[in-house]
Amino acid sequence: MDLNDSPAEAIFRKEACNFLESHSPMVKDLDTSHGDWEPMLEVLTEWQRILFEHGWAAITWPEEYGGRGGGPVEQIIWNQECMRVGVPASINIVGIGMAGPAIIAHGSEVQRERFLSRILCGEEIWCQLFSEPGAGSDLASVRTRARREGDEWVVTGQKVWSSGAHFSKRGILLARTDTTVPKHDGITFFLLDMDTPGVTVRPLRQVTGEAHFNEVFLDEVRIPDCDRVGEPGDGWSVAVTTIMHERMTLGGSLGVFKMDDLMDHARACGPLDRVVRDRIAHVYSLDRCLEFLNARMISKLGAGQIPTAEGSIAKLCASRLFTEAADVALCMSGPAAVVDDGPWQRLFLIAPGIHVGGGTDEVQRNAVAERVLGLPREADESRTLPFDRLYSG
Ligand SMILES: Cc1cc2nc3c(=O)[nH]c(=O)nc-3n(C[C@H](O)[C@H](O)[C@H](O)COP(=O)(O)OP(=O)(O)OC[C@H]3O[C@@H](n4cnc5c(N)ncnc54)[C@H](O)[C@@H]3O)c2cc1C
Repeated sequence: MDLNDSPAEAIFRKEACNFLESHSPMVKDLDTSHGDWEPMLEVLTEWQRILFEHGWAAITWPEEYGGRGGGPVEQIIWNQECMRVGVPASINIVGIGMAGPAIIAHGSEVQRERFLSRILCGEEIWCQLFSEPGAGSDLASVRTRARREGDEWVVTGQKVWSSGAHFSKRGILLARTDTTVPKHDGITFFLLDMDTPGVTVRPLRQVTGEAHFNEVFLDEVRIPDCDRVGEPGDGWSVAVTTIMHERMTLGGSLGVFKMDDLMDHARACGPLDRVVRDRIAHVYSLDRCLEFLNARMISKLGAGQIPTAEGSIAKLCASRLFTEAADVALCMSGPAAVVDDGPWQRLFLIAPGIHVGGGTDEVQRNAVAERVLGLPREADESRTLPFDRLYSG
């Protein structure tokens, strides 16, 4: 593992750093860790426009589509610099990290013309309409149905945990178009205009008091066939493209926590007993592990290799780090922990969600068991049976 940037990476980092230092004061240290971006929509959309104007809106998109033409290493370096400077993630993370790459890889030239530049400049914010009440870890079990009527598809079903759907103009949507084939083969990928009649977005209030997620109800929603990406029934491969890109876009950027902040808090809380000091050292160890895991992924990518289980291990490490950091921070606060409402309380409340979103801890451990330990995949006959034999009714 090489912890140093190559000369080319060092130049890229310097460029990113110079740009962020000079242009980011408007968004610096804006707290979006809770995921409730709505109150900051205006400023974050303006920031997106500035990124677009200066060529920093999409690090890994090809230059011909308005991206920077970088690879995963440049994406991680960009994310690291944003974190260091205190710049939040893009307001259009689904548009840039998922919808755009899907359209570039599987869409038509007309779709690229219509959607890509609006995604980049923040004119159209996108959401992800994948999860359903019965389809999360097992996403291929989606039951939202789409039937073809002439040049349109008529969609009925329910999505859930749709982040930012209440302020999004468009959504990437998975719907089942064929129930007679195994579950992965009967799904189609659509680009949904959220203003279409029949779309109802209902915010879900979380324990933090904010409403970051939504339930989205689709009642006989008509989607023109020109807003389908890929062939009917090929939606799973399009969805896999989006998920791979989402992971890359977020690479190394899960940092909703800075070790220095915990140390400042510890100093402010005065003398600490041995148990607490020991726990802080443990948090520090996790933080360094995460840093080295990210460096290891960069090294692998830089050498042209694809990281396998490193992403899963890094996600497991990050979620454990945030949970333990919040816990020890509140422990240091003493009784004030339950009356104050500050960043540590917020981290404590959002940390459980980090163990779930983007693949739960258990699902990540399954990946480690298969890819690192070489254990056989869990037997699962639902992968081969026709969907209508799995769920009748
Ligand atoms: C912060 C956040 C943001 C999100 N944003 C979006 C979004 O914008 N759009 C969207 O579509 N979805 C979104 N989600 C939903 C997310 O993708 C799902 O919550 C996640 O995939 C888990 O699915 P589930 O909640 O249905 O849980 P389930 O899949 O029902 O899991 C329930 C429990 O069973 C365990 N489990 C499931 N399968 C296995 C297995 N094979 N082996 C062992 N254990 C297993 C899980 O680990 C978990 O503990 C978001 C979630 C979070 C927390």
